[in-house]
Amino acid sequence: MPRTVIHWFRRDLRLTDNTALHQAAASADQVVPVYILSEWKHEHQWTGPARQQFLCGNLESLARNIESIGSKLILRQGKAEVELERLIKATNAEAVYTNRDPDPFGKATEQRLAKLCENYGIKLHTYKDCVLHEADEVLNLEGKPYRVYTPYSKNWLSKPKPAPLPRISSLGPASQEPSLPLPTLETWGLTLENAEFQRSNHPPGERAARERMKEVIERGIISHYKETRNLPAGRTTSGLSPDLRDGLIGIRELYARCHTILSSLESGPAVRDSALTYIKELAWREFYMAILHFYPEVLETEFNADFRNVAWDSEEVLFTAWKQGRTGFPIVDAGMRQLLATGWMHNRVRMIVSMFLTKDLHCHWRLGESFFMQHLLDGEIASNNGGWQWSAGTGADAAPYFRIQNPWTQTKRYDPKGEYIKRWVPELKDVPSDQLMEPPTLWLNKDYPMPIVDHGTEREKTLVRFKIGRGG
Ligand SMILES: Cc1cc2nc3c(=O)[nH]c(=O)nc-3n(C[C@H](O)[C@H](O)[C@H](O)COP(=O)(O)OP(=O)(O)OC[C@H]3O[C@@H](n4cnc5c(N)ncnc54)[C@H](O)[C@@H]3O)c2cc1C
Repeated sequence: MPRTVIHWFRRDLRLTDNTALHQAAASADQVVPVYILSEWKHEHQWTGPARQQFLCGNLESLARNIESIGSKLILRQGKAEVELERLIKATNAEAVYTNRDPDPFGKATEQRLAKLCENYGIKLHTYKDCVLHEADEVLNLEGKPYRVYTPYSKNWLSKPKPAPLPRISSLGPASQEPSLPLPTLETWGLTLENAEFQRSNHPPGERAARERMKEVIERGIISHYKETRNLPAGRTTSGLSPDLRDGLIGIRELYARCHTILSSLESGPAVRDSALTYIKELAWREFYMAILHFYPEVLETEFNADFRNVAWDSEEVLFTAWKQGRTGFPIVDAGMRQLLATGWMHNRVRMIVSMFLTKDLHCHWRLGESFFMQHLLDGEIASNNGGWQWSAGTGADAAPYFRIQNPWTQTKRYDPKGEYIKRWVPELKDVPSDQLMEPPTLWLNKDYPMPIVDHGTEREKTLVRFKIGRGG
């Protein structure tokens, strides 16, 4: 009788460079590929319609790719352990394969699944896949986790990196097990209000993601990354974060491609430096995953215990103005509108809007953290929490609380011609650029609000609150 195993897809929606899938295919005559849809309805603190729509497209593409190699993706909905148990019984599977999930919720499910497999006398095989180095592989000389990025990244960079794996060409015969139809937003009772969003410039699926990765390498975005990455106007960063989030591309392959640029004799020093800068950003991603692994309490409270008593106002009116991109601070509003329209925001602007929400509007960073998770295509618990706590000044290796960015100065430095602002805030498209770099004294446009706060005044308030919160 042919040996049957299950591959449980989670954050690895691809056939190329997929560690657990590769191992499953090598060890069995038949791999039953399964994805289990979550069963919440209408609202979720950590996700929303934009990312769920992206997921729907990614699953459709995965199902097609699996069909093209003669197999069938089985879709189920519910609790992972319950659905997997049903499949284990129905298929007589001898083992379950899956790639490890770095977040606490994913890890808890893996533990429950391990028990279940033990009860059935079958093996659960889990693999490192979504990172180059898991949290416990990058430790300091005392074997302890790092709390600061630079020494972490030095260690991370020095470690040999796993090589990419080839594309799967067969999973054996298709399973006859019943499957749910492909999901739509209705599966979760969701709708996308923003019609613009439907025409998102980030098409789903493995093929589209691979084309993006190729383009990023060929168009030289990584080669010029160091000099341009802080400029939000135009295409200056890779834009691959949603693809890494859902595992449409393998991190090993992305790293290998960057490393080729880094080590090529044809690359000049500036290009090599740029490729290294980019690779170091991939290390930030893993640094935050390691922080979440070792300090899961960051999901509930400040990483830095000194700041757990800081007072926040979290005023609804101010939070709403921020969410809608109507604060009267053009760079902040441009960022929030880019997020609402595309499900993505440039990193420099993420830093500006998050620092503005926490330090100028005194809203708790957890409000912003949740709003980002609900709207970002790349919404990823570890990086998002890390980014928010960085800006709030409460996180691991965060911006010191007293270094509060001035949104007007940031605009001058990073959007000096106001191109980014004019792209996302059309009411300001005819306003001379120099008027976007300073607080206005008159209305810039009758449809655009005056600044809702004064940066200097709010900055002082924040300094006082952090000092008091710290007890001194
Ligand atoms: C408040 C805030 C919230 C954030 N939320 C998320 C999130 O939910 N998901 C997410 O993937 N990133 C998040 N980031 C990090 C960063 O903004 C995005 O990874 C980046 O903008 C994605 O665009 P890109 O792919 O063009 O990045 P590139 O500049 O091309 O970088 C390449 C890759 O490196 C990683 N990376 C880059 N910068 C960071 C960083 N600061 N922290 C962690 N990883 C990084 C990402 O995987 C990214 O795709 C957040 C940052 C801030 C300040």
